[in-house]
Amino acid sequence: MTPEDAAVKPEAAAVKPKDAVPMPQDAATEPEDAGVAPPETFVKKASVRLSDGRELIYFGESAAWAAGYPDLRELGALGASSQVRYDPLLGEWVIIAGHRQGRTFLPPPDHCPLDPSAPGRLTEIPAPGYEVAVFENRFPSLLAAAGDAAADQPGLLATRPGNGRCEVVCFSQDHSASFADLTHDQAALVLAAWIDRSAALAALPGVEQVFCFENRGEEIGVTLSHPHGQIYAYPFITPRTTRMLAMSGQHQRDTGRNVFDDVLAAELADGSRTVIAGEHWAAFVPHAAHWPYEVHLYPRRRVPDLQSLTATERSEFCDVYLDLLRRFDRLFDTPAPYISGWHQAPVHAGRQEFALHLELFTIRRASGKLKHLAGSESGMGAFANDIRPETAAATLRELVAG
Ligand SMILES: [Zn+2]
Repeated sequence: MTPEDAAVKPEAAAVKPKDAVPMPQDAATEPEDAGVAPPETFVKKASVRLSDGRELIYFGESAAWAAGYPDLRELGALGASSQVRYDPLLGEWVIIAGHRQGRTFLPPPDHCPLDPSAPGRLTEIPAPGYEVAVFENRFPSLLAAAGDAAADQPGLLATRPGNGRCEVVCFSQDHSASFADLTHDQAALVLAAWIDRSAALAALPGVEQVFCFENRGEEIGVTLSHPHGQIYAYPFITPRTTRMLAMSGQHQRDTGRNVFDDVLAAELADGSRTVIAGEHWAAFVPHAAHWPYEVHLYPRRRVPDLQSLTATERSEFCDVYLDLLRRFDRLFDTPAPYISGWHQAPVHAGRQEFALHLELFTIRRASGKLKHLAGSESGMGAFANDIRPETAAATLRELVAG
């Protein structure tokens, strides 16, 4: 099933849910107030509230069923606070969220908070099974009620409330799986959730940019091994996007052309760093890669955000992305730790020129060896990469179908 099928013919999307997800025999037990999404959202979903008021959204065929299970925990109030402070030398905002020190750190597998709930073992997911689940982070860096924007402290040392939202995206109920283990249809459901959440968070007051990303592996600092990603909705345009937009504007003034279009065309014409050239997507190691193994994945048609992708583009993305992740899994003696993130146009700026793309990279440069951000990188922002981008691309190309 492709997202297109699900969107155009909702009745035809009634494939059986994933085998591992228990389903009620009687659909009449579905609660009426489960918040089932209208068909125009392209995906079946249902929203509930956890006992501390946070929102949880199930996606997939089992969504309305899963939403029938209430959160039986008695969670205390969040007590979280967040602010953003302006760095006047670099012209960028920094999130200050002092409450996050107490968050869960690598719990034993039988205490994983992202597993489905079971009798005597209540987790963040009240249902006994799910396909994809998204919920508000209990330890957010940014939160909707962080404060009134009128409380801005202006001037050189500007401070604002850290308004925004942080969500956790559970890719699968299977604790031991990784994104690379997902089927095409499971990946398509995660993509549908990213699209849905990106649109919903962009519509929140004060949100300027939405970032969907995954940190994978303990070396990256992941505190939970369950397959999951995160979504940050920022009250500002992030420093990297600000810089990309500035460079895009300069290139437009200098050449009359779009820098994202020109880079993609130049990389494909050169070819030495191309990893996968699909019909609708192209993946390459950038000419000036910062990381040992770094791949940028672009739709060939320039679009500002995930919502703008056609059903055909969404479907091919799943194939290409799963292929890339499986190559990363085989780069070293154990699966590569990685960071993967969607670069989308900001909510209110740069939508004409920005090009949606995904950046995937590992900090591992060889089995057992990590690239550390030491003096030059951390102190000066000047990267030194130990692996030639052409070599990295050749290695990734050769890892086909292992
Ligand atoms: Zn788990």
